[in-house]
Amino acid sequence: MKCDLCGAKIQQTFLNKILGTQIRVNGKKKLVCFECQRKFPKKEDLLKQLS
Ligand SMILES: [Zn+2]
Repeated sequence: MKCDLCGAKIQQTFLNKILGTQIRVNGKKKLVCFECQRKFPKKEDLLKQLS
């Protein structure tokens, strides 16, 4: 799995939990890594970056 913002590989824990976050943009699931989450702590900012 890759971050939809920076393209970095998103790692998963052994429990298949992703080290990042999933958000929905226009009905589509997007994955965002920790780094990008940190860069854009506000969800509105993240959505702006993804759209
Ligand atoms: Zn990223």
